[in-house]
Amino acid sequence: MKKYSENGDFLKILEERILKDGQVPEKDVLKVDNFVNQRIDVAFLREVCGEFYNRFKNEKIDKILTIEASGIAIACMAAQYFDCDVVFAKKGEARNMGNDVYTAKVTSFTRNRVYDLSVGRRHISKGDRLLIIDDFLAEGSALSSLCSIAGQAEAEVVGAGILIEKAYMTGGRELREKGLRIESLAMIDRMDEDGIVFRSGN
Ligand code: 5GP
Repeated sequence: MKKYSENGDFLKILEERILKDGQVPEKDVLKVDNFVNQRIDVAFLREVCGEFYNRFKNEKIDKILTIEASGIAIACMAAQYFDCDVVFAKKGEARNMGNDVYTAKVTSFTRNRVYDLSVGRRHISKGDRLLIIDDFLAEGSALSSLCSIAGQAEAEVVGAGILIEKAYMTGGRELREKGLRIESLAMIDRMDEDGIVFRSGN
């Protein structure tokens, strides 16, 4: 498999890739569809997701919880390091899931709509130690809904690993203030027609 980082500086290679391939088609939306959201650069993301393991390796993780669709690939890359299963919340009406589900509402940042999220109850056990993984953190709706589902299941959220946080938005700050440990690999402080500025020392 191709090697992207010579010295294990996964954060730097991720920032460089965002600068090279990221597009901002509308205000506050970062498009990274040629390596995350439509075409998936497996070798690249697999390497970068090793950083989630570096950050959470001292924790016992039973399962990774994510949200369809784009969270799944990132979660599966990370799960290989933690050697655990991935559970993903389904969006929309989950007709084939029966009533035995945990549910929460999520406001989609990119589509500006409210969805139902569902996870079959049998996929999360009471006391499970969960790591939540997602591709983006913006206003925090997806992450809080996943925390709500974990809470309904009486599972413990060890923390959240995010590939790209738009740190100038409120989600990360509010959830950290509530005590959630959030580890974001790229933190964007500003994103506009002049370019993308990352938080230094992340
Ligand atoms: P939040 O719920 O924190 O407002 O937004 C996070 C969710 O919205 C993520 O699951 C992600 O799929 C999507 N999202 C938020 N901002 C962006 C963005 O700038 N680009 C892309 N591709 N997805 C985003």
